Amino acid sequence: MMLKIVIMGPAGSGKGTMSDLIADNYPVKHISTGNMFREEIRNNTELGQKANSYITQGKLVPDDVTVAMVKNRLSQEDCKDGYLLDGFPRSLVQAEAIKDLGINVVINLKIDENLLVDRIVYRRMCEDCKAIYNIKLNPLKDEEHCEVCGGKLYQRSDDTYEKLMVRLESYTEETQPVVDYYRKRGVVYDVDAGQSIEDVYKQIDQILTKIMEEKSI
Ligand SMILES: [Zn+2]
Repeated sequence: MMLKIVIMGPAGSGKGTMSDLIADNYPVKHISTGNMFREEIRNNTELGQKANSYITQGKLVPDDVTVAMVKNRLSQEDCKDGYLLDGFPRSLVQAEAIKDLGINVVINLKIDENLLVDRIVYRRMCEDCKAIYNIKLNPLKDEEHCEVCGGKLYQRSDDTYEKLMVRLESYTEETQPVVDYYRKRGVVYDVDAGQSIEDVYKQIDQILTKIMEEKSI
C-alpha cells in the first residue's frame, strides 16, 4: 500500500531527524513545506512568485496558495510511491483542503514540555565550527568554549525560554485541531519523542511495519 504520511511535532521533538530516517527506510519522498517554498521561489514558478509576493510583504502565504503548491509537488514523479509531509497541514482548513489525498498515517511526536525546555534552552553552538552542545543534558567542563576547536559558544536568540513558550503555545493552538481531525479518522499514531533517536525511530518503525503488513493482506 502507498504510505501517505503526515509528521507532526514541535521544534525540538526530532521531527527532521525522524523524517529523514523514515524516508531512508520506507518508499516515501520527504516533502518539507519550508524547503518546497524555497525551491518554488528559486525556480521562479508561478506559484513561487505568488508565494514570494506575500513573504516579501511580511505576510503569511494564504492557504489556497500553499495547498496548490503542495498538491502540485505531490503530483510529481518522485512522490508516486508515497510521501511524508513535514510542516503541513498546519490548520484545519489545510487539512480539509487535502482530504481527497487520503492521508493514511499521522505520526504525532509527543514530548514533555520540561524535556523540550532542557533540549532547547540549554543548547549552545560554537561560533567557529558550528558544533552543537547541551550544557544541561551533557555538561561541559567549560560552558563558554567549544570542546572541539576552542571557539566561543553562544545561544541562538530563538532558544530562550520565553521564545520557546511562545512557539510552543502557537504550535499547540495551530496543530491541536489538526491532530483531533485526523484522530477522528483513526489515522493518528502517538509516539513518545522524549527518548533517544534510536528508540523514537524504533517506535515509528514498528508502527509503519505493522501498517504495511495489515494493509497488504
Ligand atoms: Zn568549535
